[in-house]
Amino acid sequence: MAFLEAQTRISTLSARAYMATICDNLSAMEMLTRVDDHGARISLADERSFADLTATNDGLDVNARSATEQGLSALKFMLGLQLEKVAASEKPEVVWSGHGCDLDVLPGLREMRVRRFADITPHVRRITLSGDNLARFDSDSIHVRLLFPPAGLEKPEWPRPGKNGRPSWPADDRRPAARLYTIRRVNVADGEMDIDFVLHEAPGVASDWAKSVKEGDLIGLLGPGGRELATAQWHLIGGDETAIPAIARILERLPADARGATFIEVEDERETQSIPHPEGVSLTWLFRRGQKPGRNTLLADALKSVSLPDHRDVFAWLGAEDAIAQTMRSYWRNELGLNRAQHLAVGYWRLEKESV
Ligand SMILES: Cc1cc2nc3c(=O)[nH]c(=O)nc-3n(C[C@H](O)[C@H](O)[C@H](O)COP(=O)(O)OP(=O)(O)OC[C@H]3O[C@@H](n4cnc5c(N)ncnc54)[C@H](O)[C@@H]3O)c2cc1C
Repeated sequence: MAFLEAQTRISTLSARAYMATICDNLSAMEMLTRVDDHGARISLADERSFADLTATNDGLDVNARSATEQGLSALKFMLGLQLEKVAASEKPEVVWSGHGCDLDVLPGLREMRVRRFADITPHVRRITLSGDNLARFDSDSIHVRLLFPPAGLEKPEWPRPGKNGRPSWPADDRRPAARLYTIRRVNVADGEMDIDFVLHEAPGVASDWAKSVKEGDLIGLLGPGGRELATAQWHLIGGDETAIPAIARILERLPADARGATFIEVEDERETQSIPHPEGVSLTWLFRRGQKPGRNTLLADALKSVSLPDHRDVFAWLGAEDAIAQTMRSYWRNELGLNRAQHLAVGYWRLEKESV
């Protein structure tokens, strides 16, 4: 296998201590780490991307290797951040050399134009974006970071590759606002991508943009990122309307003989969508009917009412308001004893305190 490589080094007298802390931090983030007195290896879950750290008396060397562009930039991003964090008191200057360091544009950045849009329910608008070279977005990574430039700029400015492995953002007055969304559908041949926007009541950059969108509007996009589902014999899936695109993509990827249960919370019948799902995975809609989004117990009650099969080869997934995600994460972990690989509860949005 051919590998892409990049290297960096920081000068320090504390290389071994820093290396141990980086390994602790990254293993808590479920990256594989192997460490001995002088060196460590850190591997991403894809197992085709890894970095060797070597501690010497006067510095810490990092050699990152990956079979893919995305793997290498993920390693550079994470390790650059870790080096700056653990050695913060020494203010290290992290500068990568090697593959990808002469790039002028971030590999995952695309400028997209609105091709068309349609309301698929009263509160969900499907916006079809067009752009070039979308092959990398047709993958198991289903999320993108949408970039909304501030109003009034003659020419939008996007983040660029930074020497430290992280994007370097424009100054605050020109910096685009970033929000995470899910690719509902991508068609590489036609150069288009669908994103379903929940049009929520409170003002918000993304929702407001979607409410007033026009054909031809320009938006930036970074990604893709995020994997949602581990494979198991039985799946428990839950979410509110912001997670419908992710749930639909999860369900369409399950094998036809998959088993499990899905619960989706929306306002009322008018917000339901047709979502293909395997016969053995039930799909139940939960209706708020005026209860506050993000501060009701519909979803948590429904998910908690499910008895998991005895074989315990299960995977539980949730995308919803942050407090609900915290409740379910703690329930699955502490009450049901699911391990980290068996559950993922993600805060898809956060109810602002003043609107509670
Ligand atoms: C991995 C991931 C994937 C996501 N995919 C999608 C997607 O495909 N489609 C989608 O619509 N959303 C998706 N979201 C959720 C979306 O990023 C948030 O709703 C985001 O806050 C919207 O940004 P905003 O600028 O409109 O509002 P913000 O500026 O973030 O918030 C402004 C105000 O709006 C309120 N608010 C924000 N979202 C909601 C909501 N959903 N309901 C009610 N009030 C809200 C906040 O409490 C706040 O008061 C995803 C989130 C994650 C983490």
